[in-house]
Amino acid sequence: MTIQENIRDFQSRLAGTNCRLIAVSKTHPVELIQEAYDGGQRAFGENKAQEMKDKQPQLPADVEWHMIGHLQTNKVKYIAPFVHLIQSVDSLRLLQEIDKQGQKHSRVIDCLLQFYIAEEETKFGLDLEEARQILRSDEFSQLGNVRICGVMGVATNTNDSAHLQREFARLRGYFEALREEFFPGVAHFKEISMGMSSDYQLAISEGSTIIRVGSAIFGNRDYSITT
Ligand SMILES: *Cc1c(COP(=O)(O)O)cnc(C)c1O
Repeated sequence: MTIQENIRDFQSRLAGTNCRLIAVSKTHPVELIQEAYDGGQRAFGENKAQEMKDKQPQLPADVEWHMIGHLQTNKVKYIAPFVHLIQSVDSLRLLQEIDKQGQKHSRVIDCLLQFYIAEEETKFGLDLEEARQILRSDEFSQLGNVRICGVMGVATNTNDSAHLQREFARLRGYFEALREEFFPGVAHFKEISMGMSSDYQLAISEGSTIIRVGSAIFGNRDYSITT
C-alpha cells in the first residue's frame, strides 16, 4: 500500500471514534511527509527538536507538529514558535522552559505529561507521584504560557497483549486520577496518547485519544541515513 492509502485506511478506521492519528514522520524526508499531507493527514510527530525545526518551513503552514521524543531544555527554543503539542514533558524544569519560550512568542503551548509505563529501563517519563508534585507546586501555578492537556506513554515492546493492556489501563488510570485531583471539569484536559504501529488497536480499546503511528504508515525507518 502507498502512504496515502495507509493514511486513508487509518482515517476510515478512526472515523466516528474519539481517537485521532499522529503520523510519526521521524527520520523520513519531507517528500514522504508531503505525500501523507496530500492524502489528508495534518498531524505529524517528530522525536528530535532539530529535525522538526528543519522540516517545518519545508511543509505547509497548517501542519500540526507534535513533539513525541525526549526534549532537552536547551532545544525548546527551536520548536517553541510553531509546535502544536509537546507530548513528552517529563520534568518541572522542562515545563518552566516551555513556559518561558511560550512567553517569548506570546503563545500558550499545549503539553502532555509523559508517564513511565513500560518495563524497559530506557524509557523516559514520570510516575504518578512525581506528576502530582509538579502539579501541586507553586512553581507550576505560576506558569501562564503552558497548558496541560493530558498524558502520554510508551508501552513495553512486547507481543503479550495482556501485558500491553495492563500498561495502557495503568496510563488511563493516571489520567483519571489527575483529572479528578487537578482538572475536574477542565475541558482541555482530555488526551491519552498511547498506541503505536504494533499495539494501537489495544490502546484504542483501552481509551486512547491519540495514536502515534510511524512504520505502519511510512514503512520501516532507516536510521543509517540520519545524522
Ligand atoms: C517512533 C515512535 C512512535 C512510532 O513508532 P512505530 O512503531 O513506528 O509506529 C510512537 N511513539 C513514540 C514516542 C516514538 O518515538
